[in-house]
Amino acid sequence: MNKSYPCELCDGYDADRREDNIYVCENCEKIFPTPTEDTMTKKQWLRQIMQFDEKGRSPSISRDVPLQYGTRMKCFELRGYTWGKMDKLYKEFLENKREKKNENNI
Ligand SMILES: [Zn+2]
Repeated sequence: MNKSYPCELCDGYDADRREDNIYVCENCEKIFPTPTEDTMTKKQWLRQIMQFDEKGRSPSISRDVPLQYGTRMKCFELRGYTWGKMDKLYKEFLENKREKKNENNI
């Protein structure tokens, strides 16, 4: 799955001609630096493409049911998460990144 980086400005995703450190939005054709997990905004994080089943469960939990691709947002909606819950999860995601980085520096 190639379209992993959501555009910062519109609803598009990175196009196939992405290079190492930049990507081009398939929709508005703006060129962006490829976001790392550290620089990813909440909007981009929620629009990352993932795989899940009809109830929003991840492939590792879900068994013998059809999987689909969609945004993290869609996945959370299927799970019935509120905005507050999503916000909390994004903050945890940022925390985890920070902790991992500290471990690497030791
Ligand atoms: Zn765009």
